[in-house]
Amino acid sequence: YSFSDLGLSEWTIQTCKELGMKRPTPVQQHCIPRILAGNDVLGIAQTGSGKTAAFALPILHRLAEDPFGVFALVMTPTRELAYQLAEQFRALGSSLHLRCAVIVGGMNMINQAQTLMRRPHVVIATPGRVKVLLEDNPDIPSVFSKTKFLVLDEADRLLDVGFQEELRAVFQCLPKDRQTLLFSATMTDNLQTLLELSANKAYFYEA
Ligand code: AMP
Repeated sequence: YSFSDLGLSEWTIQTCKELGMKRPTPVQQHCIPRILAGNDVLGIAQTGSGKTAAFALPILHRLAEDPFGVFALVMTPTRELAYQLAEQFRALGSSLHLRCAVIVGGMNMINQAQTLMRRPHVVIATPGRVKVLLEDNPDIPSVFSKTKFLVLDEADRLLDVGFQEELRAVFQCLPKDRQTLLFSATMTDNLQTLLELSANKAYFYEA
């Protein structure tokens, strides 16, 4: 398998080459074609498996076709993970003029609200801060009204550590016809439930 077998556009393949990614990893091989086909995906894969590129590449491929408003919202449990995800998105999207915002606790909320109002293409966020911004500022919920992709990175941790109320507040602002991409190190009952609620014929991959 090569990246060109997965249905990705030429510029993404070129970017992978420049970043030293010669061949897709198994999670990329299985998940990228399903994401491009419009399916919801649950991928069970460890850190280091290449799972970030498994969702970032197809999202960037689609974004390049039709850049409009906030295109993808990526939720992750910690600030540190949010910055790491942003770094990969920026590297993979370097030829796109990608506007990518990190919305996490500990930063100025007025600045964050202004950043969101400028409708970055990709928002990478921890749940607590997004919930506060959504609830405190009446202009923020509509920022997410055209979102095409919701990603839950480290979804097992997000669903386990008491983020449920925060996630519910976020889900309410997203359109129903979005794609949901769940990536997790382990399979849990909560993930199983989310998968069964999926509207877009979910695809399940386990390493
Ligand atoms: P992740 O599992 O997303 O945390 O990725 C782990 C590391 O693997 C990241 O630093 C990526 O840049 C790198 N990586 C992702 N996909 C590939 C690939 N197909 N070939 C080589 N390295 C990769």
